[in-house]
Amino acid sequence: MKWLGRRGSSNVDDRRGISGGGIAAGGGVIGVIMYLLYTFLGGGEVDPSQIPQLSPESNQTVLTPEEQKKDDERAEFIKVVLADTEDVWNKLFAENGKQYQEPTLVLFRDGVSSACGNASAASGPFYCPGDNKLYIDLVFYQDLQNKLNAPGDFAMAYVVAHEVGHHIQNLNGTAAKISRLQQQAGETEANRYSVMMELQADFLAGVWANHAQKMKSFLDEGDIDEALNAANAIGDDMLQKKSTGQVVPDAFTHGTSAQRMYWFRKGFQTGDIKQGDTFNAPDL
Ligand SMILES: [Zn+2]
Repeated sequence: MKWLGRRGSSNVDDRRGISGGGIAAGGGVIGVIMYLLYTFLGGGEVDPSQIPQLSPESNQTVLTPEEQKKDDERAEFIKVVLADTEDVWNKLFAENGKQYQEPTLVLFRDGVSSACGNASAASGPFYCPGDNKLYIDLVFYQDLQNKLNAPGDFAMAYVVAHEVGHHIQNLNGTAAKISRLQQQAGETEANRYSVMMELQADFLAGVWANHAQKMKSFLDEGDIDEALNAANAIGDDMLQKKSTGQVVPDAFTHGTSAQRMYWFRKGFQTGDIKQGDTFNAPDL
């Protein structure tokens, strides 16, 4: 994907390097405040052992300068992808007489707290409807390449566009509607709704790629294959096989690899937001 020298979004809240994103830092922060208070109040008599210890930031990833450079480059890339989603969705919303509300993307490392609760890097990228924010740990970028065998910058762009797809579902009321239906449904049925939501987010990522390409001609040879490969790699059946060695369809909440690829491709080929009705698709 051609991205160097292009606009990066300013809607990025970079929390990389902030310890635990507020999860593990509690004791440490209180420790610092108490220490400052003691010092400020001239507490010369304070026994240093009484001052709460700063929590050892043992679970915080420390990057080498080279890793930091790579990480910063990935952050810049994500900003450009987010800007590309803003340009496309601003245009498509305006064409429908609506105004797009741009989401904030939070970059974090190790852990983060959101309106949807605390998350670790192991949660993978996610969108929180409660605060309208996308949360991305750049470790996932490496995981795509090293653990999921889905390399390439456009694989990561697809992941960001998928999360933005969830934001669209939040803005247009689909998320609230489906969540109501899920509350009345049994577990299997509720899972099915989740799958449809996920596949629609894949479709919306495809729609985005279609329009972004028309507006910017940013795709390199093989980019769409990178996205399809990533959709294949992170299908629930693949992830389940990797983790348990077997496939349990009832527990699917994202869709199979074939379904994910189908809907991304359909979005990319049509660019037509009206064709993304995963809820009434016959093969689901
Ligand atoms: Zn999703």
